[in-house]
Amino acid sequence: MSILRATAAGLSDLLASGEVSAREVAQAHLDQIDAVDGSVRAFLHVDGERALAAADAVDARRAAGEDLGPLAGIPLAMKDIFTMTGAPTTCGSRILEGWIPPYNSTITERLLDAGVVVLGKTNMDEFAMGSSTENSGYFTTHNPWDTTKIPGGSGGGSAAALAAFEAPLAIGTDTGGSIRQPASVTGTVGVKPTYGATSRYGVVAMASSLDTPGPCARTVLDAALLHSVIAGWDPRDSTSINAPVPDVVGAARSGDVAGMRIGVVREFGGEGYQPGVEQRFAEALAVLEGLGAEIVEVSCPNFEYALPAYYLIMPSEVSSNLARFDAMRYGLRVGDDGVNGVEEVMNLTRGAGFGAEAKRRIIIGTYALSSGYYDAYYGSAQKVRTLISRDFDAAFAQVDVLVSPTTPTTAFTIGERVDDPLAMYKADLCTIPSNLAGNCAASIPCGLSPDDGLPVGFQVMAPPLADDRLYRVGAALERELATRWGGGLLDQLATSPAGAYLKVGDGR
Ligand code: GLN
Repeated sequence: MSILRATAAGLSDLLASGEVSAREVAQAHLDQIDAVDGSVRAFLHVDGERALAAADAVDARRAAGEDLGPLAGIPLAMKDIFTMTGAPTTCGSRILEGWIPPYNSTITERLLDAGVVVLGKTNMDEFAMGSSTENSGYFTTHNPWDTTKIPGGSGGGSAAALAAFEAPLAIGTDTGGSIRQPASVTGTVGVKPTYGATSRYGVVAMASSLDTPGPCARTVLDAALLHSVIAGWDPRDSTSINAPVPDVVGAARSGDVAGMRIGVVREFGGEGYQPGVEQRFAEALAVLEGLGAEIVEVSCPNFEYALPAYYLIMPSEVSSNLARFDAMRYGLRVGDDGVNGVEEVMNLTRGAGFGAEAKRRIIIGTYALSSGYYDAYYGSAQKVRTLISRDFDAAFAQVDVLVSPTTPTTAFTIGERVDDPLAMYKADLCTIPSNLAGNCAASIPCGLSPDDGLPVGFQVMAPPLADDRLYRVGAALERELATRWGGGLLDQLATSPAGAYLKVGDGR
């Protein structure tokens, strides 16, 4: 029996039957982090003592006969954007270095209440701005499939931790694709729930009208189990939706797509798309068709304007949200020598504490919001946002879900796009429309690209509050592909020469 290769659902059964203890499960993952994180660098901060104490508490509750939920004792890697007391929250930024939040995010609270064992905080692009983790103020995370490649971003640390078998569950945030794109390039599952379905309270804000926390896992069912724990109304978040959480776990167990209408977004393909990505995407469509789904082509003509609209709306909100890092309240303070005035200390701190990408977006956002330009930039972008929502509405009047590749290419090489922001931004071409419209979307592994042997993600998009459809389609695809492959995509990494350094191929 392998603790590291087990799914969260599998571990849950082993824990319930008493075959393993939560302490053993936590220790196995901490050992794996020790063994491989020097190569992968998924974690910014690991707290082994705290994790073992949390595991012991779960074991004690179980021994006392308490009825525990399915995630009690399951380890989790937390993107370093969620506040948690007693641990640093840096958001991948030097400006927050040393800051220990005085409160928990709602999601942190729900995880802790569920008995989830938090192993540590994972690396990310600074304030979630990026697609590769190369914008982290600390270091770059490596893709476990090939450590010369990026693990995606901004939640590359969470995705890499899953793919390196350092944790069976992780959480992330998706503002433009930061859960789905890392999932796509690491062969993992990532879900951006409906905007407002998961609380933003205590999640450091990037672009508040887009930010959506969500689950990351190695299987669709594990993501659903996590989704059902973290989702639901939160009166502390003004944009939280007061509606029941759809039965995502039931949908993930069912995976029945017979009679479902699946729309392929015509605009997402062709020039700029890697042939191997398109090939695997087409094969996945054929799989769903074979399972009884009806595949139709749908046009969403305004999706091509999603990227430019996002790169006005998002930086506008970023410039406003990041104003709070003023050297007075959190983390870093530079130049406070008793001579410099407040403004000077602020300027020096922001100059030293923010990286280039954060500065670029603060400057663009400030410009887009400035009087005289507001209507031309921010105002126009908001109108485009409405057009994109209308494209979704029209499409969902015809089909149950929309699908596309998650990202146009597989993982690119570390360093390759750092000097070309536009090339970097294109990684989110297919993911951004769902953030602008607020509907839900997921990335499911659909194979390895034949041209480079790296994972390809299949994106499913569903209407707001129909998150269960993502799990239904995802589970169908996952199950059928696993039958063909003789296991999940990450089993292929675990048993391949490229994954030998992870030392999980032998079932450890
Ligand atoms: N890569 C996108 C960006 O840099 C998405 C970020 C995100 O979803 N947090 O803005």
